[in-house]
Amino acid sequence: MDETFVVIGGDAAGMSAASKAKRGNPEINVVVFEKGEWVSYGACGLPYYIKGEIQTLEELVSVTPEQFRNERDIDLRTGHEVVAIDPESETVTAQNESGETVQPYDHLLISTGAEAVVPPIEGADKEGVYTLGSMTDGKELREFVARSRESSPSEQPDSGPACQYLESCSGPVGIVGGGYIGVEMAEALAANEFEVHLFQRGDRVLKGFSGATSEAVADHLKEQSVFVYLNAEVNEISGDSVVESILTDEQEVPVEMVLLGTGVSPRTDVAENAGIELGPTGAIATDTYRETNVSAVYAAGDCAESEHVVTGQPAYVPLALTANRHGRAVGQTVVGTPTEGGGVAGTAAVKAFDVEAARTGILDHKEARDAGFDPITETIEAKSRAGYYPEGGTVCVTMTADRESGQVLGGSLVSEYGEGAVHRSHALVGAVTEGITLAELSNYDLAYAPPFNTTWDPTLTAAKVLGGKL
Ligand SMILES: Cc1cc2nc3c(=O)[nH]c(=O)nc-3n(C[C@H](O)[C@H](O)[C@H](O)COP(=O)(O)OP(=O)(O)OC[C@H]3O[C@@H](n4cnc5c(N)ncnc54)[C@H](O)[C@@H]3O)c2cc1C
Repeated sequence: MDETFVVIGGDAAGMSAASKAKRGNPEINVVVFEKGEWVSYGACGLPYYIKGEIQTLEELVSVTPEQFRNERDIDLRTGHEVVAIDPESETVTAQNESGETVQPYDHLLISTGAEAVVPPIEGADKEGVYTLGSMTDGKELREFVARSRESSPSEQPDSGPACQYLESCSGPVGIVGGGYIGVEMAEALAANEFEVHLFQRGDRVLKGFSGATSEAVADHLKEQSVFVYLNAEVNEISGDSVVESILTDEQEVPVEMVLLGTGVSPRTDVAENAGIELGPTGAIATDTYRETNVSAVYAAGDCAESEHVVTGQPAYVPLALTANRHGRAVGQTVVGTPTEGGGVAGTAAVKAFDVEAARTGILDHKEARDAGFDPITETIEAKSRAGYYPEGGTVCVTMTADRESGQVLGGSLVSEYGEGAVHRSHALVGAVTEGITLAELSNYDLAYAPPFNTTWDPTLTAAKVLGGKL
C-alpha cells in the first residue's frame, strides 16, 4: 500500500515539504492540514502590504490551494486544525466545522509555526491593540490604516488623540518593540502619515545586530520623524475600552493604535501533548534531519529549533529561509533520500526607510564566550563604491572574531538603501558558516568594479583591520 505523509501547517515549511515529497515520489499520499484559509503565503511581505506598496493579500501567495490540489496532487485540507497526535497508533486528529477526522500517517511533519507574543502589559487586550503574525493581522492593520486615512483625527466625531508633533498626520500610533517587525512597521505607518512612537525596552533597536548598526538605524528612524524611546519599558496601555495612550515609567504618550512587535513564540502545544520533546530554546528539538524524539515525526520551521553553525548549540531563529530549507529537506527524507537541511547562522536583514542592515553569526561577546571563544570586535566605515564614481554612500561593517584562532564569528552591516549592506553580508555568511579565519576572509576573491565597491570591498577591509588587531 502507498505510504502517507501528513503535514500539520500549510505555510513555508509545510508546503515546501509537501511539494518536495510529492515531486520525489508521486505515489506517496500527501495530506496537509491547515487551520486557516491561507497557504503558502509570504508573511514577510505584510509590512509592505500595510504600507500600500502591495495592493492585495493574494499577491503574497506563491501557490494557491487549487494549484496544490489540482497541479501537485496534494490533499490540502484548509480550515482543519490538528488537535492531537497519537504516536502509538500513528494518527492525527483534525477538527473542522463539520467534525473530526482521524488520519493515519507513515511520516508526520509538524510545521505549526510561531505565534506573535502578547506581553503581560496592562491594557494589551484593548480595542486598537494589534499584533502582526498572520495574514488576518495584516488585513486588520491595513483596514485600520485605510480608516484613519479616510479622515484626519480632528475630523472624526469620536476621534482619538490628535498628533502632538507633526503638523499633518493620520494620528499618533505606538509600536512596542524595536525588532525587525517594529522597525519595518515604523516605515509602513510613517509612509501613511502617522506620527509614529516606537518604544524599546533595551538601550538599542535591533538588538541582535551590532551596536553601530542599531545606532545608525535609530538615528535614521529619528531623521524620518519617528519618535524612538530607548530603555522605555511599556507598563500600561490606557483607555476605557479603546486605546488612548501608552505609559512608561517616564512618559505618557497619547496614541490611537498600538502595534505589539514583541517577538514570537513557537506553537508547540499539539507536539508537547503527544510527548514530543522541546529543546532548551523552548522550540521543538530535532536532530539534523529534523526528526524529533518520536520516530517518523519531524518538525521544521518556526516551531522548531536548529543547530547554530558557529556554536553547534541549539538555536531558535524563526525565519523564512530556514523554514523553506528544512521543510524541503524533510520532504526529501520521507521519500527515501535522507537530507540534512543545514544549520542556522542567525542571518537576518531589514530595511528601515532609506537604510538597509544585515547581520550573521555571533556578535554578542557573552554568547561567544559561552561557546568557548575569546571574542574581539571592530567596526569600520568604508565607501560603498569607488570614490570617483558619481554615486555612492557609506557601509559600516562590524566584525567579531576569536582572538586566538582568528576564526570569523559574526558580522553586522549597515548602509544607505541600495548601497549593499545586505548583499555584502553574504560573503560573511560564507565565512561564518565555514569557520574560516580573518586572514582567509581577507584573501577572498570578491567581485570588484567601481559602480559596486572599492577595490577592497568593505567586508575585506573590516577583516584586514580586525586581523591587524589580533
Ligand atoms: C510581519 C512578518 C514579517 C516577516 N519578515 C520576515 C523577513 O523579512 N525575513 C524572514 O526570513 N522571515 C520573516 N518573517 C518570518 C517568516 O514569515 C517565518 O519564518 C515563516 O513564515 C515560517 O514558516 P512556517 O511554515 O514555519 O510557519 P508559519 O508561516 O507560521 O505557518 C504555520 C502554519 O501552521 C498553521 N497551523 C498552526 N497550528 C496548526 C494546527 N494545529 N493545525 C493546522 N494548522 C496549524 C498556521 O495557521 C500557519 O498557517 C516574517 C514574519 C512576519 C509575521
